[in-house]
Amino acid sequence: MSASAQMTRVRAIQWARQSIDRLDARLLLQFASECSANALIADPDVVLEEAQWTRFQSLVQRRAGGEPLAYLVGEAGFYGALLAVTPDVLVPRPETEELVDWALDVLRDQPAPTIADLGTGSGAIALTLARARPDARVMAVDVSSAALSVAQLNQQRLGCANVALIHASWYDGWQAADGLDLIISNPPYIPADDPHLSGDGVRFEPRLALTDEADGLDAYRAIAAGAVARLKPGGWLLVEHGHDQGAAVASLWLQAGLVDVRGRLDLSGNPRMTGGQKPARSA
Ligand code: GLN
Repeated sequence: MSASAQMTRVRAIQWARQSIDRLDARLLLQFASECSANALIADPDVVLEEAQWTRFQSLVQRRAGGEPLAYLVGEAGFYGALLAVTPDVLVPRPETEELVDWALDVLRDQPAPTIADLGTGSGAIALTLARARPDARVMAVDVSSAALSVAQLNQQRLGCANVALIHASWYDGWQAADGLDLIISNPPYIPADDPHLSGDGVRFEPRLALTDEADGLDAYRAIAAGAVARLKPGGWLLVEHGHDQGAAVASLWLQAGLVDVRGRLDLSGNPRMTGGQKPARSA
């Protein structure tokens, strides 16, 4: 289908529905024709311009081929904010909002906390914490300079002056003078041989952010190894992980000398987060 003579908004959506989800079709049409959700509902019979129809068809085809909606429209919602995303960063996921909730819980009684987000990507975790806690100082660390550019754009958009972007692999070459109250991370944790890597959506995401090219635990080993030296007494290490990695991550946390090690379920009931604390005073 390519003629646009009488291609109205409603007919365009009907065409797209043959290959993609209804909500995605609506969002892509809004994006391709620069119209609001309200306008789409109020005026379904508006005829698309030729260029809008062409753009919409191409977006629908890409979505039908598995490209994440967030990459097609260049943004994604996270914790009530709209973040810029590109194929240089993971698409922020709802489970990660729950990791942020946990972090806000553990920091509740800690004034002016110092936080490091390791592998920040779009900056989703770091910027959300910085917004929720304007008294915090947040270090957003990533080894990918392309990812840091996206995080920087988001920092500017959201106006978070209390975030420092750091180009580094995990802890290499930077330090927080007085120690950290929280180390938080959603690192690459998919094992290299997991078919999920070539699955719908995921295969368009940056491999560096998804897998360690090994057993899926390398990032946790590196993060655990450096944590106790950098945390303040009583400081927390909280991470997201795969549904079957909780026991392995917990044992790395214990080996590293963390205490009060515990997992947390996501809203779907899967064990997707593990945390532990540096002992309150060294024995
Ligand atoms: N949650 C992502 C997925 O399963 C993976 C994110 C990650 O590796 N940090 O698709």
